Amino acid sequence: MRVVIFGPPGSGKGTQAALLSRRLGVPAISTGEMLRSAVSQGSSLGLKAKAVMEAGRLVPDDVMIGMMRERIAAPDAREGFVLDGFPRTVEQARALEGLFDGNGKGLAAVVNLSVPEPILLERLDGRSSQERRSDDSRATILERLRVYHEKTEPLIGFYRSRGLLADVDGVGDVAEIAERVERALAGRARGVA
Ligand code: AMP
Repeated sequence: MRVVIFGPPGSGKGTQAALLSRRLGVPAISTGEMLRSAVSQGSSLGLKAKAVMEAGRLVPDDVMIGMMRERIAAPDAREGFVLDGFPRTVEQARALEGLFDGNGKGLAAVVNLSVPEPILLERLDGRSSQERRSDDSRATILERLRVYHEKTEPLIGFYRSRGLLADVDGVGDVAEIAERVERALAGRARGVA
């Protein structure tokens, strides 16, 4: 099963992607994690990505599409995957469709985690002090939200028009939200959502 967990920064997509991947027995693929590990390894990709991430901007589409093309071709992704953080632009979403051409089924669903902005800000500020993610400073948080609205939010319409979107309320505790995600996916599998 190929699923995208989609949502603004702070919506909990990383947490839900990890839980869902365990449940489905397929890898969770987080482009943010991949980039953070490139940064900590000091690879040439990492060196390029670091400043972009710290500014709250997006790494260029061609870089991300190349990274994803390679990652989903790996053997562990053959039975499916849960994508967390990709696609983030319409261009990435179109490229993702292209990657499935000729290799069977496309995406089963795109789970859209919705969380009101004041709650996002509260969560991101909390994460900033707990995890010390260098892209969780206040200025960067605001820029990431702006970039989300400008570049990523249009994907809601893109996937809704393809009948793939499953809206899930992302407010509540982690287990409760995980149940909603599972129900939304089960509903889609039965063709009722
Ligand atoms: P995340 O952990 O998903 O919030 O990603 C952290 C940061 O990595 C983002 O703010 C972007 O700078 C970068 N990033 C992650 N995924 C992508 C993507 N698909 N396209 C462009 N930039 C990305």
